[in-house]
Amino acid sequence: MAKVGFVGLGVMGGPMAGHLANAGLDLTVWNRTESKAEPLKQAGAKTARSLEELGAECDVVFLCVSRSEDVQDCIAQLTKRAKPNTLFVDHSTILPDVSKSLRDELRTKEFRFVDAPITGGSMGAQKGQLTIFCGGEEADVAEAIEIMKPYTKRAERVGGAGAGQLTKMANQIAVGGTLLALCESLAFAEKAGIDIAKTRDLLAGGAAGSWSMDNYGPKILNRDWSPGFKVKDQLKDFKYCIESARQIDAAIPGTVLLDELLTKTAENGGQDKTTAFLFETLLEEGFRD
Ligand code: NAP
Repeated sequence: MAKVGFVGLGVMGGPMAGHLANAGLDLTVWNRTESKAEPLKQAGAKTARSLEELGAECDVVFLCVSRSEDVQDCIAQLTKRAKPNTLFVDHSTILPDVSKSLRDELRTKEFRFVDAPITGGSMGAQKGQLTIFCGGEEADVAEAIEIMKPYTKRAERVGGAGAGQLTKMANQIAVGGTLLALCESLAFAEKAGIDIAKTRDLLAGGAAGSWSMDNYGPKILNRDWSPGFKVKDQLKDFKYCIESARQIDAAIPGTVLLDELLTKTAENGGQDKTTAFLFETLLEEGFRD
């Protein structure tokens, strides 16, 4: 049985590693804040004292940390004593170009790399129902997909290194569009003085229906701004979307506008709130053409 490592036990990584432990895999975990590894220990996982130690012990290492530079820092430590042919699988959402350069750098050291960003949110991680976009060599992706099964709804290879992250960027662009549509529609209804609960209910069953309408709509009605997906995390992803779009000369004007509106939302104390808090920014904004 392959020795599997998991690094980054946050909102997403914690439950994902939990599914691997519950499936009986030979699992070793590491988290920067040690206390977050406790539930994994209870579920039967071993803990490493350092990234270097985890890298030396495992055949396949999964990461679910935050930004590009966090993945780069972790991989630099993990590879210090890792065995040749170790497979690194990155679930974090990072810049596609960084995934490509990590693959190139790791290849020169005889390591393997798959970018495997995830979608499905914290509920998807808890239920083991994530969709995973995989970029890398066919055999490496197949090996990763087999191990990821306990937390996968659907996992597909979408191309070579970086293709997983590019697919995730396309996902974030679409998610942003439906978020803006929902917040704009309900802020309009509120300003118009019509019943926004009834508006949401009626719209959700027709052509305006969406995942955002079903999941963020009720939060807006209850003014429940707890995350979910935080404004600062959406802004991180948009930075990568906009940088990637610039490189490939793709028009993403809706995302650029939403990035501006969410930056305002963050400045209004929304950093750590759900992205649906955009509704309040739109109420304050008023008409612009
Ligand atoms: P999170 O709860 O903030 O957890 C981040 C994890 O990364 C924590 O374990 C943190 O350690 C660790 N970390 C961050 N920087 C590190 C560094 N430099 N060195 C070592 N460890 C580091 O984030 P999350 O919501 O699980 O998201 C993880 C990734 O998945 C992100 O790239 C995010 O964009 C992506 N994602 C999130 C969602 C979502 O709904 N939350 C959905 C899809 C994709 P500490 O515990 O010490 O802080």
